[in-house]
Amino acid sequence: MYSIPPPSTDDDEHYRHTTARRNSPHRELMAQIAQAVSGAYAAYIAARGRSAAMTPISASVAEARALRSAYDLVRADTGDDSLFSTLMKRTRGGQCPMCGCTPASTLDHYLPRAVFPEFAILAKNLVPACWDCNHRKGEQVAQSDTRRYFHPYFDVLGAVPVLVADLRVDRVVTVDYRIMQQPGVDQAITEVLGFHFDQLGLRDAFRAAATNELQDRYEALELYLGPNKDADAVRAYLEREARSCRASRGANDWKTALFTATAEHDDFCSGGLLLLR
Ligand SMILES: [Zn+2]
Repeated sequence: MYSIPPPSTDDDEHYRHTTARRNSPHRELMAQIAQAVSGAYAAYIAARGRSAAMTPISASVAEARALRSAYDLVRADTGDDSLFSTLMKRTRGGQCPMCGCTPASTLDHYLPRAVFPEFAILAKNLVPACWDCNHRKGEQVAQSDTRRYFHPYFDVLGAVPVLVADLRVDRVVTVDYRIMQQPGVDQAITEVLGFHFDQLGLRDAFRAAATNELQDRYEALELYLGPNKDADAVRAYLEREARSCRASRGANDWKTALFTATAEHDDFCSGGLLLLR
């Protein structure tokens, strides 16, 4: 989960440009509702994409269909200068901002176009997402201002980790994840992240990613541990990785949480890591 600054696309200009590319009667239908759509765009930005603060525009069935199907043009155009490519290039290393552990390959309508056809081609409503996040989210709309998905363009994640990993070293090493309210963090954003985390099944996704990550690191961990069971060397290595991840991926990232939890786990650092094999 990570934030991206909202795209600076000229939204009204993009709407005019898309309208001009459409065939009749969609071109005329989009033109006649352009003013209402422009007003809705301003409302979207003012409400920071929160549907609880917005009312869908009144569009005829034909107008709504024309607005919805305009997205097909956006999806079909994947050229270097296209909106699709422009938005994808703003991701961190191509990773999905909704989960942060899978490559983004689609654009998700933060507010679904089935409910809000006016935002079908609005860049600020089109969030790069992996296939899983996009399809799990589907056409759900917010049930309240906190029972809603994290909006990577408008919800800013702070430097305090709300996503935490719990490490267990028993006969095997297991990693679990949860969202936790922390002092100094707005309760509303914690609730949003909790809803997002549950609905998208991120606990399972992060557990699987963490297990793979630890397996990939096994040789290095074993080397730092050495024959003398040097827990300090292991801890220093994991702390370095945690710092590096925090700087590049943020505090609320599954990998940052993983390295933080492993570095803090005495049993893991003093030899428990050998249970990975
Ligand atoms: Zn994802």
